[in-house]
Amino acid sequence: MSIPTTSKQTLGIIAGRLAIPTLVLDPDPHCPAKQVSVPPPGTAHVDAVYGSNAAQGVSRLAAQCTVITPEIEHIDADALQGHGNVQPAPETIRLVQDKFVQKKHLKARGVPVCDAVGVDTREQAERAVDALGLPLMLKRRAGAYDGRGNFVLRELRQLDGALAALGATTDGEFGLYAERWAPFVKEVAVMVVRDVHGETRSYDPAETVQRENICRLVLAPLRAADADVARARAVAEDAVCAFAGAGVFGVELFLLDGGAVVVNEIAPRVHNGGHWTEAGCATSQFENHVRAVLGRPLGSTAMVARCAAMVNLIGGDWDFDNAVDIAMGVKGASVHVYGKTWRAGRKLGHVNVVADSDAELRARLRPILLAIDDPDV
Ligand code: ATP
Ligand code: MG
Ligand code: MG
Repeated sequence: MSIPTTSKQTLGIIAGRLAIPTLVLDPDPHCPAKQVSVPPPGTAHVDAVYGSNAAQGVSRLAAQCTVITPEIEHIDADALQGHGNVQPAPETIRLVQDKFVQKKHLKARGVPVCDAVGVDTREQAERAVDALGLPLMLKRRAGAYDGRGNFVLRELRQLDGALAALGATTDGEFGLYAERWAPFVKEVAVMVVRDVHGETRSYDPAETVQRENICRLVLAPLRAADADVARARAVAEDAVCAFAGAGVFGVELFLLDGGAVVVNEIAPRVHNGGHWTEAGCATSQFENHVRAVLGRPLGSTAMVARCAAMVNLIGGDWDFDNAVDIAMGVKGASVHVYGKTWRAGRKLGHVNVVADSDAELRARLRPILLAIDDPDV
């Protein structure tokens, strides 16, 4: 098995616990995932790029393993084609990596999504404002993450600045799309796992809290009316049916006033909004992903803690080591450090916290959030 990865070692650690050898493709020979996955004799991790021109690296990888599972969608999907057992399917990766194509694909299958129109010229951008109203979300179709390809357009006079910020310089080739604003009351993430035999299970919907487009905090279970929670889960499971292949799919949703649920986007991989399952559920998203792509029995997705949360450790104006030490001292907390170089705004680790009640959970979260200077205590 192989995992092109930039950050997460957890799949390698979990596979190791199940005595499943893992090879990693990444340009960095010392990337965190390679440090925790020891290649079996006669095999070697692959030091190669995966974003584009990945054909050579993928071939070297495929020659050494039986299953390939990408851990990031911003990869050379063409290079994965024709390499036997790739999970999820390369066409799924290709479909989701263009977020506008993904949206049209979901809409055509009856999955609720925000209205969206393609924007390749300035004139189309103006027409999008007429059609969708303001505010609207201008998004890059490809390559975006942590909101780095998004711009909230509140007034028409911001348009030129927005286009410049999104790198849309050549009229006719903007590569953007505009999305109707979703006035959500909560953002929700549902992890859905489907194995190679088609068996599907989902985890409890969780609330995700984003600031400046980056996920800061995840709280499970979702505090909402039972019917809304059930609807979020059903819509997420439905959405995943639109894509081929096995593994975990992270489904991001907006819960609107009145209970309607809209899909924001789908990640064909383990997802930040599901890291809490490591501490909160019988079988984590990581372990179920490994089992799913290998055709092994899926584990229970049930919660084993009454309440769970995940705090992202995102590089900021606070002392990282001190925050890690404080989190280590909190009852019910487990700390994950990715071993990445510090950079402002970069996800460097996360802390999972479990508790027996919502009040206890919040009390346990407080010192951690204070240590990372998070105002949302
Ligand atoms: P990720 O790191 O999750 O892949 P991304 O760069 O693909 O992020 P999106 O998920 O499209 O970006 O958007 C990031 C955040 O921006 C969302 O979580 C949400 O808070 C906000 N957002 C996105 N689309 C809309 C919308 N149509 N209406 C309102 N808010 C939105
Ligand atoms: Mg995204
Ligand atoms: Mg997103």
